[in-house]
Amino acid sequence: MIPELLQSQKNFFKTGDTINVTYRKLVLQQLKMELIKRESDIIEALAKDFKKPAFETVLTETTVVLSDLDLMIKNINKWAKPKRVRPSLLNFPSSDRLYSEPYGQTLIIAPWNYPYQLAITPMVAAIAAGNTVVLKPSELTQNTSALLNNIIKTVFKPEHVSVIEGGVDVSTILLAQRWDYIFFTGSVNVGKIVAKAAAEYLTPTTLELGGKNPCIIDETANIKLTAKRIVWGKFLNAGQTCIAPDYILIHHSKKEDFYKAMKTEIEKAYTSEPKASSDFCRIVNKKNFNRLAKMLDNENCIIGGQTDAETNYISPTLIDEPSLDSEVMKDEIFGPILPVLAYKNKQDIETIISKYEKPLSLYVFSTNTAKARKIIETFSFGGGCINDTVIHFANHRLPFGGVGNSGIGAYHGKLSFDTFSHKKAVVKKGNWLDLPLRYAPYTGKLKKVKKLLKWL
Ligand code: NAD
Repeated sequence: MIPELLQSQKNFFKTGDTINVTYRKLVLQQLKMELIKRESDIIEALAKDFKKPAFETVLTETTVVLSDLDLMIKNINKWAKPKRVRPSLLNFPSSDRLYSEPYGQTLIIAPWNYPYQLAITPMVAAIAAGNTVVLKPSELTQNTSALLNNIIKTVFKPEHVSVIEGGVDVSTILLAQRWDYIFFTGSVNVGKIVAKAAAEYLTPTTLELGGKNPCIIDETANIKLTAKRIVWGKFLNAGQTCIAPDYILIHHSKKEDFYKAMKTEIEKAYTSEPKASSDFCRIVNKKNFNRLAKMLDNENCIIGGQTDAETNYISPTLIDEPSLDSEVMKDEIFGPILPVLAYKNKQDIETIISKYEKPLSLYVFSTNTAKARKIIETFSFGGGCINDTVIHFANHRLPFGGVGNSGIGAYHGKLSFDTFSHKKAVVKKGNWLDLPLRYAPYTGKLKKVKKLLKWL
C-alpha cells in the first residue's frame, strides 16, 4: 500500500498542481477553515491522550499552527517567486536568479509530546513550498493521530497529502522508501536511525532532536521571577517539552531562596495538590512513567516526588544535588523532574555543561547582562533565553533547531518554507558581449587574469 501511495504522489507531483501557487494557497486556506472548525475536537483528543489542559492546547498547539498558516498564506507568492540576486562582475553581462523549487515527495515523522503542532507545522511548510507529504504521527498519542488522519482526509487528496498511522514497524517501512526530503522530530537515538536510512538515497533531512538543557541562575538573578518563569517552562506539558529546562545550575548562595520561591510558585500554579489540578498533564504512557519514576529512587526530592502509577502521574519535583552519575543526570529527563546543582564558580558551570552533548536549549537568569551574554557566547546550543524559558520558540523570525546531537537544520517562519525548498541558482548570461580572457589558449593571459581578479 505504501509503495502505491508513493507512486500516486509521484504522479501527482508531476502534474505540476503542487507548484501552482494559487492551488497551494487554496488548500492551505481550506486546511485553516477545517482546523478552526475542529478546534474542540483537537482539544478533546489531546486531553484524552495525556490530560493536556485546553488552555495549554490553545497556547502551544492550535494558535501556533493557525498563525503559521496565516504567515504562509500571506507570503507564499513572495517567497515562491524567483529572486534576483546581484550578479558577479566575473560573469558580466548576466542576470542571476534564485529559484525556490519544491523537493518533491516529503516524509514527516512526528513525536507525541506536542502531537498536533509538531505534525502540522512542518506539513504546512512542506505544502506551502509545493511538495507532496506523507505524515506519520506518533502512535503514543492515538487520539490525536486518528484525528489528524481524519482532518487530512477531509481536506487533501491522498496523492497530495496523506497520514499514515502506526509505530516503529510502519516508520521503518516508510524510511525504507525513497523520499526527496525527510523531516524528523523525536529522540536522538531514532534520529540516528533516520539519518542512516536517509543516507541510502542521500536524502536531505532535518532532524529536530533533544538534549539536556541547562538552566543557569547566578547570584544576581531575581529569584521570585526566575522561579515563576521556570515553573511555567518546566511544568508546562508536565515537562514533556524538548526545550524545557532539564537541570538547574544555581549559585550556591541562592539555592535555599530558590527552593522557597519554587515551592510558592508551584503551589500558585497547581495548588498544593497538583494531582487534582486540571492544569497539570499526565505522563504519556507507562513506559515513560516507569522511566521517570526510576529517576526518583534514592534521591532527595526537596519538592514533590509523589507518583501514581495508575494515572501516570508524577508531581512537579525538584531533586537536591543528585550525583552526576545518577539516573536523572544521565540523559534528557523529559518529565516534571528538575535536578538542582549548586555551583561556586565559572569552572563548575563549564565542567558540568561540557559533560553533555550540545543541548537544544540553554537558559540564563541574571541581572548582569554582560555575564549572561558571556555564558550565551561560551556554550554551543540550539537556542535559548536570558531571564526566561521556552519563549524563543514563539518568535517565527528566530530559527528553531538544534546543533550537534540536538539536531540538524532548523525551521519556523520563512525558514520553514526554505527548509522544504531547494534553492536553485541560475545565471542567465548575456550574448551581446563575450570576453575572450577565460578561453584557451591561455598563453599570455595569466597576468591579465590576476590583475582583473584583484581589481574585482
Ligand atoms: P521518538 O524518537 O521515540 O519517536 C518519534 C517518532 O519516531 C514517532 O513517530 C515514532 O513512531 C518514530 N519512531 C520511534 N522509534 C522508531 C524507530 N526505531 N524507527 C523509526 N521510527 C521510529 O520520540 P518521542 O518519544 O515521540 O519524542 C520525544 C523526543 O523527541 C525527545 O527526545 C524530545 O526532546 C524530542 N523532541 C524534539 C523536538 C524538537 O523540536 N527538537 C520537539 C519535540 C520532541
